[in-house]
Amino acid sequence: MRSKVILVVVDGLGWQAGHDGMGYLQGLCEAGLASLHQLRCELPSLSRPLYECILTGVTPIASGVVHNDVVRLSTEQSIFSLAHAAGLRTAAAAYHWISELYNRAPYDAVRDRLTDDESLPIQHGLFYHLDHYPDDHLYIDGELLRRRHDPDFLLIHPMGVDDAGHRFGGDSTEYRNAARYHDKLLSQYLPQWLAEDYQVLVTSDHGMNADHSHGGILPEERLVPLYLLGSRFNHASTARVRQVELCGLMASLLGIPHSKPDNQAVLGQPD
Ligand SMILES: [Zn+2]
Repeated sequence: MRSKVILVVVDGLGWQAGHDGMGYLQGLCEAGLASLHQLRCELPSLSRPLYECILTGVTPIASGVVHNDVVRLSTEQSIFSLAHAAGLRTAAAAYHWISELYNRAPYDAVRDRLTDDESLPIQHGLFYHLDHYPDDHLYIDGELLRRRHDPDFLLIHPMGVDDAGHRFGGDSTEYRNAARYHDKLLSQYLPQWLAEDYQVLVTSDHGMNADHSHGGILPEERLVPLYLLGSRFNHASTARVRQVELCGLMASLLGIPHSKPDNQAVLGQPD
C-alpha cells in the first residue's frame, strides 16, 4: 500500500512543551484521529546528527555525523534516496544542513536555496540558513512545494522553537509560546493534508535544557514528542517507538521495500 507522507520536524521541541502546549494536536488525539508517543532521541542530542538519524534510521555513532560541523553528504541510504530510487517525488522546506546531508555540500545559498533538480535525492527544495527564518514563512514554503510538485515525501523543518530555546532557555515563556505557535500553524494546514489522506508525522530532533542549549542526556534534552496523524496509523497503539525507526516507518508508508529498522506496531487497525 502506498501513501503520501509529510514529516514535520519542529527543531528543538522537547516533550513537555510539545505535550502541554499543542492543544490542536491533542484534540485530534482525543478524537481518535492522532496519537502521541514519547521518543527518546539518540545521542548526542544535537541537530545535524539527529537529522541524519531521523532521515536514515542510523544512530550518530554509527553514521559518523556526531557533531554539527560535520559538513559532508550522508553516506547512508536516506528516506530521500530510497524514495528517489523508487521513482517517487521528494521535496523539503528545511534548514540548509538538510541540503548538505542529501543534495550538495557545502551549501551555496545562491545555487541551493531554491532547488529544482530531478536528479537529486531532494528534487524540490526550499532551504534557509538563518535560525530566525520565520516559521510561518517556512510552512508556506512547504505548502507551496506540496501544491506545486505533489511530492510523495515532503519534509517541513522549522527552526523557531530551537531558536527561542537558545535565546531564552527551555524553561521560558518564550520557548513554551513558540511551541504553542506551532500548534496554531499546524492547525492551518493539517486539516487539508488529512482530508487528502496524507500520513503525517510531527516530531523533533532533540529538546532543550534550561541553560539555553542541548547535546547531553537530560530528559528535557532527550525526550521529544511524536504525533502520528492519518488513516494508516493504529491510534490505540502504546508501542514504544525509537527515533531510528522513523525512516523505515516512513518508507513502509510510502510502499518502498527497505531494510531499515521499522515499527509495524503503530500501523494498522486496533486489535
Ligand atoms: Zn539547537
